[in-house]
Amino acid sequence: MMQIPFVDLKSQYQGLKDEIDQALLGVCGRGDFILGKAVSDFEAAFAGYCSVSHAVGVGSGLEALILVLKAYDVGPGDEVITAVNSFVATSLAIEAVGARPVFVDCDPVTYLMDAAKTEAAVTAKTRVLMPVHLYGQPADMDPLLAIARRHGLKVIEDAAQAHGAEYRGRRCGSLGDAAAFSFYPGKNLGAYGDGGCVVTQDASLAEKVRLLRNYGSKIKYHHEVKGVNSRLDTLQAAVLNVKLPRLDGWNDRRIQAAQAYGQCLQGLPVQLPVKADEMRHIFHLYVIQVEDRDRLLKELNAAGVQAGIHYPVPLHLLECHKDLGYKRGDYPAAEAAAAKLLSLPMFPEITSAQIEYVAAALKKIMKVSV
Ligand SMILES: *Cc1c(COP(=O)(O)O)cnc(C)c1O
Repeated sequence: MMQIPFVDLKSQYQGLKDEIDQALLGVCGRGDFILGKAVSDFEAAFAGYCSVSHAVGVGSGLEALILVLKAYDVGPGDEVITAVNSFVATSLAIEAVGARPVFVDCDPVTYLMDAAKTEAAVTAKTRVLMPVHLYGQPADMDPLLAIARRHGLKVIEDAAQAHGAEYRGRRCGSLGDAAAFSFYPGKNLGAYGDGGCVVTQDASLAEKVRLLRNYGSKIKYHHEVKGVNSRLDTLQAAVLNVKLPRLDGWNDRRIQAAQAYGQCLQGLPVQLPVKADEMRHIFHLYVIQVEDRDRLLKELNAAGVQAGIHYPVPLHLLECHKDLGYKRGDYPAAEAAAAKLLSLPMFPEITSAQIEYVAAALKKIMKVSV
């Protein structure tokens, strides 16, 4: 029996070991552990990668979202419109600054925030649209940007799953007013611990985030605003500097793996991922829809295949968001999808043999003869 991991960070490290080890030892040798050279090098390189002029490294993806919201003075009394199908960080960031998350249901096929249902959610209190580029596929930005223009809203991309994804030839991160990335180890560009980044074309926003992430000061002990400690760690930046030049190649291999899955799963009673036209979907996750999902997942695990669910509970039904007063039935498309979503192993190093094994296991479990 094969054991197929959900992601394989160890095998990636083996391929980069010499360079990573050297980069980490370099930081130790220089001793510039806080906002060191590797951080400014990475910020310059990542801004270029995202086709924007500013990148500010921060402590995590959650903090990247919080700091952008704070820098735009979003707070109590304000509403932020966002996707109901996402990781909890998206809605927690909004609540962390005291604003209210207002959810929009997802498109039943792409699972992305439904642009057609977004304008109806705008009220006099709305300040921000925060679309999520879910699973590595860009949200439908052009209609969202048009809504934002009509109502004078900021657009903050949650790009934590979209390093290198493109919408109509434009890089995710460069589409709205600002974007938040995460470098959690399992993301397409992952550090060896927590990390995040704010990217933007807006120089004054970048400056504010730079202040906020570092106790509100540019000059040591001169604190202009009440900031926090949320700096991208120099050791993490050193890892990211080794990995960034490989990101496009890794994303290509994820795209190839997704194509291979598509072929191997043909004829099975599963709904394959759907890529909208003109998108570079970089398959952070490979998510299918199946009936009887929980049984399938259990049996896949028993067959040595680590699959996952992203996400089993839509944001409006999470225990931690009870106080927002949403109820079952409020977002039918997301609720229906949540019961059927199944994420198959996906990482750049996945082999055809591993993909074939996953497909064969699924066939056997589903008792299909194809
Ligand atoms: C991972 C993730 C985040 C949060 O990133 P952390 O670095 O774990 O804080 C935010 N939004 C989405 C959509 C994510 O997938």
